[in-house]
Amino acid sequence: MAGPSDLPLRPREMRDRNRALVLDTVARLELITRAQLAARTGLTKSSVSSIVQELLAAGLVVEQGAQRGRDLGRPGTALTLARDGLAGLGLEVNVDYLAACVVDLARRTRVQYVEVGDNRGRDPAAVAEQLARLAGAAVAAAGTQGLTISATCVAVPGLVDQEAGTVARAPNLDWTGVPLRRLLDGRVPEALGPVLVENEANVAALGELWFGDGAALGDFVHISGEVGIGAGIVVAGQLFRGAHGHAGELGHTTLEPEGAACTCGGRGCLELFAGQEAILRRAGLDPAVPASTGRAGGPVGVLVERLAAGDPRARAACEVAGRSLGLATASLVKLVDPDTVVLGGIYAVLAPWLRASFQRALLDGIPMTRAAPPRVAISALGPDAAARGAAGLVTASLLARPGALLSAPARA
Ligand SMILES: [Zn+2]
Repeated sequence: MAGPSDLPLRPREMRDRNRALVLDTVARLELITRAQLAARTGLTKSSVSSIVQELLAAGLVVEQGAQRGRDLGRPGTALTLARDGLAGLGLEVNVDYLAACVVDLARRTRVQYVEVGDNRGRDPAAVAEQLARLAGAAVAAAGTQGLTISATCVAVPGLVDQEAGTVARAPNLDWTGVPLRRLLDGRVPEALGPVLVENEANVAALGELWFGDGAALGDFVHISGEVGIGAGIVVAGQLFRGAHGHAGELGHTTLEPEGAACTCGGRGCLELFAGQEAILRRAGLDPAVPASTGRAGGPVGVLVERLAAGDPRARAACEVAGRSLGLATASLVKLVDPDTVVLGGIYAVLAPWLRASFQRALLDGIPMTRAAPPRVAISALGPDAAARGAAGLVTASLLARPGALLSAPARA
């Protein structure tokens, strides 16, 4: 893992790095013996053995098929990531729903809850209280499956200050400077440190990486269409956050400098042409009714029915949205040069009706600069991609820093 330019590591750092290497190798290969681990990692058999002992004691790995007290610790016994031990809790505040999700170390989704409701302009404390209740239910459900939550990450559709744990600005919630971490303090698990606050589009892209098509996407841009529009940029398997974690604010790309006012303070932003509310309004539906992303019975569900029936207003709304989105995405593609552009959120639901105009505008927007246009993929994840990505972020950081866990109190 060490690059040639890395400075020498102190013994403790070296130990941490070796633990992460062993854990990562177990995660990749699913079933592996200590001898195979030594061969794969280049570590000595005795270091592997001692690290595995720690990881077993911390409940991060288990011995496959070992019988209590008999085979335990035998060098030939295969190791695997613990399925029923530690897990991550992902939460999401979105404009018209709240979500909670629990993901285990092997990145299987074990609990998923969504509560539909209009959060626009709601008191952040009341939203946090409702979210904490949903989180409590998810933690309890995880407990019945033998899972213990190691940490929590909450995703919000806005600009966040990760360090402070605040939502700097979420225009569609009408939140400014909301101390979300503090509001959730003591109400959700934070065993490995305080609650992480993340941007929704960023963790939705990680959701796509880990729970969607993953490695097949190459470098990719994941576009989350909700009431707001955000892009998550993943380069070489890592999220590109920008200097302040604010990269990928695609929804506020200016399409018409003299256009209508946007909630962000700008004018003529993409969101006014391709956001969920803009699409519904143009299709003649009431965007004020809460219920998002294609759930049956909600306005997006009605929109899909009308589209399927060939309603010309609905089809025109998707055509405009696809064209505007394609135009803005072309600029992003010229800057980032991804292999794939993934349409997620509401765009995945509406893909049959907006993909053609999207792709046409995208191709028209990048005529001379690329040998081949990026592949356009449709996300197969549901609206809770962000909650799953948030939970996955917790387990990924756990697997990358197992040392943090070893210094924590022992677990049963
Ligand atoms: Zn804007």
